[in-house]
Amino acid sequence: MTATESAARFGFFTLEVLRTRRFGHSFLRVTFGGESLAGFRSGGFDQSLSLFLPPEHREHTELPSTAEDTWFAEWRGMAEEERPVMRSYTVREQRRTAEGADEVDIDFVLHGDASPASRWAGRAVTGRRIMAIGPAVAENKSVRFQPPAGTDAVLMYADETALPAAAAILDRLPAGTRVKAWFEVPHEEDRIALAGPADADVTWIVREKGAGRERTEQVVQRVRESELPAAEAPYAWIAGEAGTIRAVRRHLVQERSVDRRAVRFTGYWRLGASEEQLLAEAYAGKAASEDPASEL
Ligand SMILES: Cc1cc2nc3c(=O)[nH]c(=O)nc-3n(C[C@H](O)[C@H](O)[C@H](O)COP(=O)(O)OP(=O)(O)OC[C@H]3O[C@@H](n4cnc5c(N)ncnc54)[C@H](O)[C@@H]3O)c2cc1C
Repeated sequence: MTATESAARFGFFTLEVLRTRRFGHSFLRVTFGGESLAGFRSGGFDQSLSLFLPPEHREHTELPSTAEDTWFAEWRGMAEEERPVMRSYTVREQRRTAEGADEVDIDFVLHGDASPASRWAGRAVTGRRIMAIGPAVAENKSVRFQPPAGTDAVLMYADETALPAAAAILDRLPAGTRVKAWFEVPHEEDRIALAGPADADVTWIVREKGAGRERTEQVVQRVRESELPAAEAPYAWIAGEAGTIRAVRRHLVQERSVDRRAVRFTGYWRLGASEEQLLAEAYAGKAASEDPASEL
């Protein structure tokens, strides 16, 4: 695929807040609309997009350029206090209403006002506009859940930031798919209702330890205690805090003999580092990457 073809798979969209709804203990669903969504094509599953969120003193996001070859330099060149932050989120659902309007739901974890995206979401009100780089065609590389042909069981681990993606994956799995999932959440009330194959085996891990190694150990221990479905060709999708992801991946590959090529792992965030810092590291390491936040 040429760079131009690849770029054509993504585009800039203006998203306008239509409504918000709190659910569980930690989540806020923001439903966005806007005319540009007519060209938005979510590939479903864990489709992600990049949101540009305005600084606190601005109501809406404004970018100096959305042209393919200049937007990045112009965005980076903005004065820091004016520059919108870029953050990765998941398309929980895209739909067209009976009236023909396009809507997109994004589920934000509210983890405190000190973090720009969490703060923006907590204060989102109808009419606010942000911008996004999102999919213009359903088949795109920001859908990471890609089980190979012959997969006979799906293993999933997600923390709360990846639960929207996990829920969207479950929505789409055909009935009869064998699923073993571990979902780690900070509060009992975050054990939200999920659709998906009726016999999906879900273990909820309500976090007892706040952060760091102890938290990771709690997760790995719960995974270690679990029986995996008997399968010849399991596919694992794991996403969440980068340190925990590394440990869960290591456990599946080294202790449970899951083929490392059949493990799709993504660090959705890293303890102690903002996405800004992660992006800076990624750009320094692989400036040509189109998707720097994908595999931390
Ligand atoms: C592909 C992809 C899809 C994602 N989808 C979603 C999604 O649908 N919903 C969602 O809520 N998040 C999602 N995330 C995670 C989200 O991008 C990060 O949590 C991001 O750091 C939030 O930005 P922020 O401005 O709130 O915090 P930042 O400014 O990036 O971070 C500030 C501080 O908060 C910490 N931090 C970040 N996130 C959390 C958290 N959840 N809990 C506790 N501390 C945290 C950081 O370690 C840092 O110390 C996704 C990430 C990726 C890569």
